[in-house]
Amino acid sequence: MARADFIPADRGELYIGGRWRPATGAETIPVEDPFTEQVVAHVPAGTRADVDEAVAAAKSAFEPWAALTPQQRSDHLQRLHDSLAKRADEIATTVTGELGTPLKISQRVQTGLPLTVLDGYVRMAAQEAEKREIGNSLILREPVGVVGAITPWNYPLHQVMAKLAAALAAGCTVVLKPSELTPLVAYALFDAVHEAELPPGVVNLVPGTGPVVGEAIASHSDVDMVSFTGSTATGRRISHLAADRIAKVSLELGGKSANVILDDADLARAVKVGVANAFLNSGQTCTAWTRMLVPAVHYDQACELAVQSVEAYQMGDPFEETTRLGPLVSAAQRDRVQGFVRQGRAEGATVLTPDDVPDRGYFVAPTVLADVTPKSTVAQEEIFGPVLAVIPFADDDEAVAIANDSRYGLAGAVWSGDPDRAMAVAKRLRTGAVDVNGGSFNPLAPFGGYKQSGLGRELGVFGLEEFQQVKAVQR
Ligand code: NAD
Repeated sequence: MARADFIPADRGELYIGGRWRPATGAETIPVEDPFTEQVVAHVPAGTRADVDEAVAAAKSAFEPWAALTPQQRSDHLQRLHDSLAKRADEIATTVTGELGTPLKISQRVQTGLPLTVLDGYVRMAAQEAEKREIGNSLILREPVGVVGAITPWNYPLHQVMAKLAAALAAGCTVVLKPSELTPLVAYALFDAVHEAELPPGVVNLVPGTGPVVGEAIASHSDVDMVSFTGSTATGRRISHLAADRIAKVSLELGGKSANVILDDADLARAVKVGVANAFLNSGQTCTAWTRMLVPAVHYDQACELAVQSVEAYQMGDPFEETTRLGPLVSAAQRDRVQGFVRQGRAEGATVLTPDDVPDRGYFVAPTVLADVTPKSTVAQEEIFGPVLAVIPFADDDEAVAIANDSRYGLAGAVWSGDPDRAMAVAKRLRTGAVDVNGGSFNPLAPFGGYKQSGLGRELGVFGLEEFQQVKAVQR
């Protein structure tokens, strides 16, 4: 595959009630390619009236969908999986084109991961919801109802799939608003939905802006649950809107994860894997280990190893084989990240890496910051770009204290030659996930945050249960 395989086209429709139909408003949203800096397509800017129609379609589809047998819902999801899998190349080129993820990573992560997640829910959907008995009560799990799903741009199909597949498997129906920065891959998904002939109204697509379509979904009286992934500021706003009618909310928000490298760890490996984690998707990853915590005695060596690793991150056209680091999603995101690096310098951090970038595209050079203090802006704020802060610590207790000195609590890592010591530190981290000695990502494990990183869990059976209510029937 190559750049010539990215063939973006204007899309003028919304997907509501099982058919493509024109938007009610005349406004459109331009979609930019962050490498060429050109507008490559337009999608409709949905309106409140569009959301009303989509929610009405999801509401009338809910009872019949919830009444299907688990096997029938699973069969529908299997057909969706099959028609999406046929579009794997289109998905990978679309995400590379509208987001800038290097093609190989688009194929493996942006395309492969959502297909794996959907496949998991094909199997989970086929199982009867758990029934428990407590004394004279039968405990039933039932679908929560109409789900409003609002998603960001950094893993634009995966974040949609984590909600949509789990909600459908649980027996819910869905209205989706994808990010206005990366809406094209959602169109590829809904082409697959249409081809798979999911029952009308079970899933609906309303593209648009956050303040219009997002707020209309979050505040809609017939939306029973809002499932949101994005920034903590927007999550807070959505919580307020949903609170007015006591609607259920699940939130996957930002992070500032710590990679804790203890003094008996394989330093070279821990730094190399840590840099790769921090710079995946140009650092636009909510779980990115953006704070590297290293023993003071190894500090200079760790910084040197990090700088050496950075040399491998060749910037360029994300469609080229040799490119390891793509542009950021937008000029605004690039400017924001550069602003944080400037702020870091002003607060005493030292930039160890060169800042040359290609002439074209919204690039930020892979950046390693030394002399970062735990309370400084670059150690506290989510930067969402390829910027790594290296912070020294004296002993395990101080490492844990620095790691937990964050309003976020999404993910993290611990490295040690002694598995018991690593586990002891992992347990003390106040985060929803910890990887020990490079333990790999598990798409069936619960995913979510402590503190201001969110509420609730996605993925696997925990993600499915998020879309269920619990009923007690006394006999
Ligand atoms: P964002 O909060 O600006 O936007 C996310 C979505 O919310 C978009 O679809 C946007 O249109 C919509 N939105 C914006 N304002 C809204 C409003 N007032 N009401 C309703 N919807 C609104 O975030 P972003 O810039 O798209 O994504 C980057 C952020 O997302 C980062 O902070 C990142 O950490 C976070 N994120 C978290 C996770 C996770 O799982 N925890 C995953 C990916 C991204």
